[in-house]
Amino acid sequence: MSGQAAADRPGSQGALRRANRARILGELRRGRTPTQADLARETGLAPATVSNIVRDLLRDGMVAVDDSGGRRILRLSPAGSGLAASIDYGHRHVMVALADAEARIIAERRADLAQDLPAEQGLAVAARLLHEVLAEAGADLGSLAGIGMGLPAPIDSRTGTVGSPTILPGWVGLPAATLAGAAFGRPVTVDNDANLGALAELRWGCGAGTANLAYLKLSEGVGAGLIVDGRLFRGPNGTAGEIGHTTVDEFGALCRCGNRGCLETVVAARRVVDLLRPVVGRELSIGEVVAAARSGDRACARAIGDTGLQVGRAVADLCNLVNPEMIIVGGELAQAGDLLLAPMRQVIARCGVPSAVDGIRLTTATLGARAHVLGGITLAFESAAALG
Ligand SMILES: [Zn+2]
Repeated sequence: MSGQAAADRPGSQGALRRANRARILGELRRGRTPTQADLARETGLAPATVSNIVRDLLRDGMVAVDDSGGRRILRLSPAGSGLAASIDYGHRHVMVALADAEARIIAERRADLAQDLPAEQGLAVAARLLHEVLAEAGADLGSLAGIGMGLPAPIDSRTGTVGSPTILPGWVGLPAATLAGAAFGRPVTVDNDANLGALAELRWGCGAGTANLAYLKLSEGVGAGLIVDGRLFRGPNGTAGEIGHTTVDEFGALCRCGNRGCLETVVAARRVVDLLRPVVGRELSIGEVVAAARSGDRACARAIGDTGLQVGRAVADLCNLVNPEMIIVGGELAQAGDLLLAPMRQVIARCGVPSAVDGIRLTTATLGARAHVLGGITLAFESAAALG
């Protein structure tokens, strides 16, 4: 399967920005070394637009500037000319994608994995898929600008080890980047999957141009990626954003993190399915719950609505602390759209400090199921630019 990442709602600000970036990178890919004025003339874009895009491309390490000959000319940097790979692990799957610097997916593969699979075996599956996508694209490992990888766990930025809580028990305490580097034969940069979702939505999705946002991953695990002043905020140990483990009921269900009554124990996808099983008589997928709720099933609508109320309360607290301009909801439960967002909106308005929540934008992730894997691509190019 291949195709364009689903970021482009026609006419959206993000789609326009992305198209303009692609036009400028396209000019540079022809091996030319234009000045900004040349670019404006040849693309027909306003000089100010070209200037903004070039500033972003310089910041991202995609282009380099050379003014040794008296003219300030631009050329593609090594990071801007190649492809990057991304590996994203969910609770029971891994997705591998190859994309260019504009996050256009060239090739992708997905495989189901057992939840308790040891890390080495999960990495062996990803390595096989990586070779398949490289073969499909006619590329090889050596030509990659970099490899990014996402895990549904905090990654300790001091040691590179996978922290707990994670929904992948086979990975806890392991040095993920080192193991992945050995499995793939190239250095790998690793981050938490909600952080990657935040990065991708900031760069390619509905968060474009937003300096402060929170990306909320609502799946089997629950976490947040925080963009503060235009940059990912990881905290000194890489654990920032663990909203799924804030306590909402001190004597509630035991959580996999060892605490009781964490948000995740009441809103994870599994919890929604379990709530409905006695009523429905079987295990529904989240897609089936959403479809049933949309066609008027009261129990399914109630399960999703109550999830929205509980997530909304935690998000109101987050708004009071961080004051983001935008909350982007991704992960499996984002399929519920307004069935989930409407109750969230209600509680955010009721519980948030007015000046922290007035005018806040609440939306589902534009990049959908590809948000995390595209964040890995962004991470790979950023790391390549930092090294180059
Ligand atoms: Zn917990």
